[in-house]
Amino acid sequence: MQLMSSIQNKLHEIKNSLPESITLVAVSKTKPIADLMEAYTTGQRVFGENKIQEMTDKWEAMPKDIQWHMIGHVQTNKVKYMAPYVSLIHAVDSIKLLKEINKQAIKNNRTINCLLQIKIAEEDSKFGLDKDRAIELLNSDTFKAFKNVKVIGLMGMATNTDNQKQIATEFDFIHTFYQDLTKVYPEFTTLSIGMSGDYPLAVERGSTMVRVGSKIFGERIYK
Ligand SMILES: *Cc1c(COP(=O)(O)O)cnc(C)c1O
Repeated sequence: MQLMSSIQNKLHEIKNSLPESITLVAVSKTKPIADLMEAYTTGQRVFGENKIQEMTDKWEAMPKDIQWHMIGHVQTNKVKYMAPYVSLIHAVDSIKLLKEINKQAIKNNRTINCLLQIKIAEEDSKFGLDKDRAIELLNSDTFKAFKNVKVIGLMGMATNTDNQKQIATEFDFIHTFYQDLTKVYPEFTTLSIGMSGDYPLAVERGSTMVRVGSKIFGERIYK
């Protein structure tokens, strides 16, 4: 057997620990193409990035059977760059953004899948909808008129803390909300919760999709 690299070992380890029904998004932001190719070679086909320019550069350089997920905050004026190829946009938090995604999806003659980002952390983050705003958005006639965007679930980020009980409470909150919505919206299939530090807990608490970066690729160095 060929020796596996550290990235390949980590990926195997995580894959083996996850139930088969869970989608693993390999979060490759800031990492070079060579690292992504190591993951690709072991069969990984779902990658997550948080900057549209970087994701587009990687999409151009990498094999075309990869699903690219935008997991970061999206600026409306940049949607057009990823609209031809993006597979899932995780952090949608406004009707204005959905409108632009719908417009660019129409231009590209496709339907783009999205998740609504729900604010679950106690940290004072600017991003994410509360429950009432999310329901209001899903019920609005404006949203219902968008034919080329499909909201298929929710995404959340727990508080950055060692307090497992708090993280579990935040995951339970979004999972309960997600389950309520699946009763009304049959197209809801995806609950994106869990990162390197908390994905085993997220899986226990009903995650269907985890976004794991540093546990696969190593710590990120920001310039
Ligand atoms: C960077 C990032 C991740 C992955 O973080 P790790 O802790 O390295 O696993 C997951 N989700 C979002 C939204 C991110 O920005």
